[in-house]
Amino acid sequence: MSSVYEKYHLKQVINASGRMTILGVSTPAPEVVESVSYGLNHYFEMKDLVNHTGDYIAGLLQAESAVVVSCASAGIAQCVAGVIVKDNAWLLDNLHAAPLTVPHEIVVPKGHNVNYGAPVGTMVALGGGRLVEAGYSNECSAAQLAAAITPATAALLYVKSHHCVQKSHLSVAQAAEVAQQHGIPLIVDAAAEEDLRCYYQMGADLVIYSGAKAIEGPSSGLVVGRSRCVEWVKRQSNGIGRAMKVGKEGILGLTQAIERYLSQPKTSGSEMVQHMTPFIDQLNQLPGVTARVVWDSAGRDIARTEIHFDEALTGWATGDLVQALKNGDIAIYFRGYKANESIIEADVRSVTAAQLQTIFSRIDALLAERNNA
Ligand SMILES: *Cc1c(COP(=O)(O)O)cnc(C)c1O
Repeated sequence: MSSVYEKYHLKQVINASGRMTILGVSTPAPEVVESVSYGLNHYFEMKDLVNHTGDYIAGLLQAESAVVVSCASAGIAQCVAGVIVKDNAWLLDNLHAAPLTVPHEIVVPKGHNVNYGAPVGTMVALGGGRLVEAGYSNECSAAQLAAAITPATAALLYVKSHHCVQKSHLSVAQAAEVAQQHGIPLIVDAAAEEDLRCYYQMGADLVIYSGAKAIEGPSSGLVVGRSRCVEWVKRQSNGIGRAMKVGKEGILGLTQAIERYLSQPKTSGSEMVQHMTPFIDQLNQLPGVTARVVWDSAGRDIARTEIHFDEALTGWATGDLVQALKNGDIAIYFRGYKANESIIEADVRSVTAAQLQTIFSRIDALLAERNNA
């Protein structure tokens, strides 16, 4: 449907940057699109749709309970609201109406108080919580996390993400132990993580995933957890959850995407290497360009192409080159956060062989511009 690009004056995009919200995250498989379409075309008793798909997902993940939400951010806000409001009917209707007298502090390791595109703290505040940081920006042990707990604490929040400080921070299992010792729930934001079971198995009470990232579903989110806590989250659909409602199409689409994600063999790192090798060989023939395979720094089985530019030879500041690639007729997006070290990375999982050729031609052309100057 290239007409959509024409009709709204949009640029075509080659996404060599991975699952990026600013580019539309992912492109779900046909069977997921079919489920979305089925959802849009039928009526359901919505309460049953929510409960029965949740039970189905929980069965797949060997967890007590689950519920589909509109995105991971909504999951954080509703989990926070859930652990504060619990079964209190008055609070459900009046979460933000008056200062809270029930426990509403959410303790988070300081190195997990990140901005993933929006601040974690904003979602906590939406849910009526007050963020309390534990430890320091470069360290948070189990003891430091425990030290921040008071009678006003409603829950612990652990953000499992490459965005967070990894150094000298406690593990999810350690956080779960602290939560259990203090009789409070542990919420884990695992939005972009690939393992849909392990954090629950480590003892988290509520685990949140983004539906469109690793799972490659439609815009949606997943909350998996203990029944009692998930029931609290579900109740929020009559509270703050109404402002972040997920549609029937999102519920059915994500449920299908989860089933597919668990059964489909994943593209292995070595397959990615095979896919990118001709691209790397081509790049290495350009003056001032060195390309090689690098492996995911978080230890996942993901290989990427690292491209190093000798700026003296290319005549380009690497940051400007990254920008020029975005500005072309076809917008090409790389992982550019190492541009200040003259390095860019390509995540080739969503890039076809033909698109790799387009990327190569574009880099070749941009470098040639400067060589002639
Ligand atoms: C992407 C992300 C989110 C938000 O996910 P959405 O589904 O876009 O709301 C939250 N936390 C972390 C760590 C993320 O990476």
